[in-house]
Amino acid sequence: MSVEPARHVLVLGGTTEARQLAEALARESSYRVTTSLAGRVARPVLPPGEVRIGGFGGITGLAGWIVGHDVTHVVDATHPFAEQMSRHAREAEALTGVPLLALRRSGWAAGPGDAWTFTDSLAGAAALLPPLGSRAFLTTGRMGLHSFAHLTDTWFLVRSVDPPAQPAPPRLEVLLDRGPFTLEGERELLARHRIDVLVTKDSGGSATAPKLTAAREAGIPVLVVRRPPAPGDVREASSVAAALDWLGCAHPR
Ligand code: NAP
Repeated sequence: MSVEPARHVLVLGGTTEARQLAEALARESSYRVTTSLAGRVARPVLPPGEVRIGGFGGITGLAGWIVGHDVTHVVDATHPFAEQMSRHAREAEALTGVPLLALRRSGWAAGPGDAWTFTDSLAGAAALLPPLGSRAFLTTGRMGLHSFAHLTDTWFLVRSVDPPAQPAPPRLEVLLDRGPFTLEGERELLARHRIDVLVTKDSGGSATAPKLTAAREAGIPVLVVRRPPAPGDVREASSVAAALDWLGCAHPR
């Protein structure tokens, strides 16, 4: 007779950290892990363990899923810009009493030699962009491309996992790729496309950070979109190891 694992962890995913957490939990027989993906990417890299894809249907849908699947712990490991999902996770904790941890990597910090300008939104980045450069490397994802659609004089290199949807700026080249990226690769990309300004979200983490080093080396200004405020009153961890500790899971240091 098989024995059900005592703990069922729901990982709200879409990030490297979510995948790493699922990998660690899937190695432990006392944990059942389900990763939830929004379904935005056509061919996602699937983590081990169980995977469900698509929205839950709002806060009550998420709460119902948690209760209906005997979830004992929820880890919100979504991207720092997935504001709505994080808010829903907090509301679902209040409704169900099932404990929630937000796994949030730290944001990036400018160092000597960096020329970063911060803004609060993609629209703000579009407003600040024209005086900074005319050949922009846009790494903010395909979803917000419409914010730049009116910039007819700027040439864009847009890097995204899937092809962007319309509307998009008229002068652009699309590079389909997914991280992690190397410093060497980023240097080569900036030089080959004669990039003179970089636009990024403050995603944090190491997988997409080499572009910032490459921009610093090349003396290229960077427009950084600040993170939206995280929902208050949520337990937070900044590393996968800390999340495993919270789950009571032994792991190699
Ligand atoms: P969002 O605006 O916060 O969420 C919008 C809706 O999408 C949510 O209400 C939920 O639908 C559904 N959803 C989001 N994440 C989900 C998940 N992990 N599992 C199931 N449903 C999910 O999210 P977003 O900014 O569009 O991001 C979507 C996904 O892409 C996230 O999982 C995030 O980790 C990943 N991602 C986002 C960014 C970014 O810059 N925003 C970058 C890289 C990766 P229901 O209300 O129906 O439950």
